[in-house]
Amino acid sequence: MWSVSFNFHERFEIVTPVNVASMELGQVAFHLLALDSADAAEVNGFLETYRCGVIFHDGKKVSADRLPAILPLEQAILRQFVKTVLLVPPSERWAVDVPPSKRLAVFCHLNPHRELIRRRFERIIMTPSTTTRREVFGWKKSRIKEQLEEWSSAWEKREEQPDLLKQVLTEWESYAWRYRTNDLLAIPWLELHLLAEHNIFVRECPSCRRYFVPRPVNTMYCSKCRQDGSRQRNYWQQKWMNMSDEEKEAKRKRDREHKRLMRQIKRLHAEGYSGQEIARLVGKEEWWVQQRLRGKRSSRKGQ
Ligand SMILES: [Zn+2]
Repeated sequence: MWSVSFNFHERFEIVTPVNVASMELGQVAFHLLALDSADAAEVNGFLETYRCGVIFHDGKKVSADRLPAILPLEQAILRQFVKTVLLVPPSERWAVDVPPSKRLAVFCHLNPHRELIRRRFERIIMTPSTTTRREVFGWKKSRIKEQLEEWSSAWEKREEQPDLLKQVLTEWESYAWRYRTNDLLAIPWLELHLLAEHNIFVRECPSCRRYFVPRPVNTMYCSKCRQDGSRQRNYWQQKWMNMSDEEKEAKRKRDREHKRLMRQIKRLHAEGYSGQEIARLVGKEEWWVQQRLRGKRSSRKGQ
């Protein structure tokens, strides 16, 4: 049995029978999509990572040895989902400015494998649960320590001061669904649908061709390739060198305008305007504004 939760730090937590790990968004899906079904070592590595011995095929339990045989179809449908629903820039023209949650209908009505996906979701049990709220930490390490001390002290005093514990708990935790499944291949479908639900985009890394969730949304390369070298910087340097003076001036102007817009969005957000109101004021779609606000926060987290 695997347990999965999408928490307020916008990470998935996956709990396997023996270990607990906080995972990147879409990790199981992107790992599965990167597998070469003809490479037995790679497929076994995947199964071992998640300690998986049994998989489901056509609704029936089969040995995990069968994975290479069913992998190509599963990958093809998952890839279709990413391309239709989650990709930025989108793979098709109609999807420009259409957020993932709204692109989903196109996939649902046009893909002929609804039955396969329905069966995967049948094996997932949803349980209401709570998860630590991101705003509790404010991304600072010192704050986490402070909060942990506050928590233990409230817990120790729970007999004399029951209201203190109640107050701390309501400050700390918020509502979240926890998903449990004994079908490892249900997890990629769950992950991709959660990304769509939360309007989180996916990008294909131009270097290694793997999918990843770009944070902020204009990140070009996956974290692995960014660690491998400063490819992204090289890419922009190269591009800049090849630009004509007019193109450079146009880019500078775009950058200035973008920065001005970002400052305006940040200011309005700080003044307490909602995403919807900000979108109306700056003349953009609400999801676009939400992505920018989210991107700002996650780039701060990375510092
Ligand atoms: Zn990469």
